[in-house]
Amino acid sequence: MNGRAVFSNRRIALIAVTIAALPCCTTASGRQKQDGTGLRAGVARVDITPEKPVTMAGYAGRKGLSNGVHDPLSARVVFFEDGDRRLVVVSTDLIGFYGGTAEYLRKAILEEVKLQPSELLLTAIHTHSGPSLTIDKQKGHKNNLEYTGTLKDRLIRAIRSASDAMAPVSMGAGTGYCPIGANRRELRFDRSPNGSIVLGRSPYGPTDKQVQVVKLAKRDGTTVAVMFDYATHGTCLGGGNVTISGDVIGLAEQFVEKIIGGGSIAPAFAGASGNIDPWFRVLPGFNEEPGWIPEPVLLGTVLGEEVVHVFRGIKAVSTSGRIRSAFEMLNLPGKPTDGAAADKPPQSASLALTVARVGNIAFVGMGAEVLTEIGMAIKSASPYEHTLVITHCNGAAGYLAPEHLYVEGGYEIRSSPFGPKAADMVVKRAVKILHDLQDSETSVAR
Ligand SMILES: [Zn+2]
Repeated sequence: MNGRAVFSNRRIALIAVTIAALPCCTTASGRQKQDGTGLRAGVARVDITPEKPVTMAGYAGRKGLSNGVHDPLSARVVFFEDGDRRLVVVSTDLIGFYGGTAEYLRKAILEEVKLQPSELLLTAIHTHSGPSLTIDKQKGHKNNLEYTGTLKDRLIRAIRSASDAMAPVSMGAGTGYCPIGANRRELRFDRSPNGSIVLGRSPYGPTDKQVQVVKLAKRDGTTVAVMFDYATHGTCLGGGNVTISGDVIGLAEQFVEKIIGGGSIAPAFAGASGNIDPWFRVLPGFNEEPGWIPEPVLLGTVLGEEVVHVFRGIKAVSTSGRIRSAFEMLNLPGKPTDGAAADKPPQSASLALTVARVGNIAFVGMGAEVLTEIGMAIKSASPYEHTLVITHCNGAAGYLAPEHLYVEGGYEIRSSPFGPKAADMVVKRAVKILHDLQDSETSVAR
């Protein structure tokens, strides 16, 4: 099916913000406090589909501008509040915040919404079929410069709308599994007799198959948000594609919203997916042969159906959720640049680490492309019942790879700004902060 709409025909409208208006009083379970305290939240979704042709992010070789839209891009906001503590989680159908745009957007949001640095998780699903963000007036395309400025305004409006919709909620979580992510570090022997690691498919390589799902509902049980986290790149579509799309994760979000309905939103996060591609990868476009299900749609549907399966199985919910958060800019060992003398001390490289918890659900946001082994290490050492590892969060420092992969090399290692010891330091620091954010007053009902 051809669901495309060319730019010239796209409806140019005022920003459509979907707000799930939540009631201010309920007749919920006995755990609920009668005065309306306890966990509160508001949600909002805003359309961020480019209205003009734009340069697209993710493949250096792709030239020219986008020529249409397969599926719309959105930003989705969940604004948590517990007493005077707040946590704003923003999921965007974008590649990430490169070229200083993380700092640009975060500064504007923190100032306008009056948040502390640790209270904002600004994240992207890493679709490679979305616009490039830029604030570079010399090199950036004018349409992308305009898009990035508009995005800032839309994000602030959406966060304000979520804040305005604040009301008591209950929250629960569950875990499922999905096989669509494939380790992409393939050992091939076509370039040297000893073989080399290239971007491809390593079907027996490690992947994190967990699909983590967080359900947020009104106190009358009506679902307002289904957050989910899964580790895959948004690279089912390759550099030959010039049509705007959320790729696998974006299509999964749209599937979940369509199935669950009722105006609920499905903000997604890319887990530790630095070395994980979708099973079908870097395809030239949406295959429209009769009878064929385009691969991004197929894989997005498989992921979306698992999210819905898990969502429908979540029974235990809590109406309390203590919020704590911390933000650190980690200074990590960097790699010497090519050609540097061997005795020259390695440069350092920084990484934004944001750790937060809402009740017994934790979020570890990293401003980098984190390889999947690192995410699994953090999850397995976390003291929380559910720990969502989120990449492309609050920064864009490049690849962060575990030390043992530096021996075999490959694309992620070559392009990483970090030295081999950096990943362990990040894992240890994230786990330490997760413990620090615990306290004796945790009162999550199960
Ligand atoms: Zn990537």
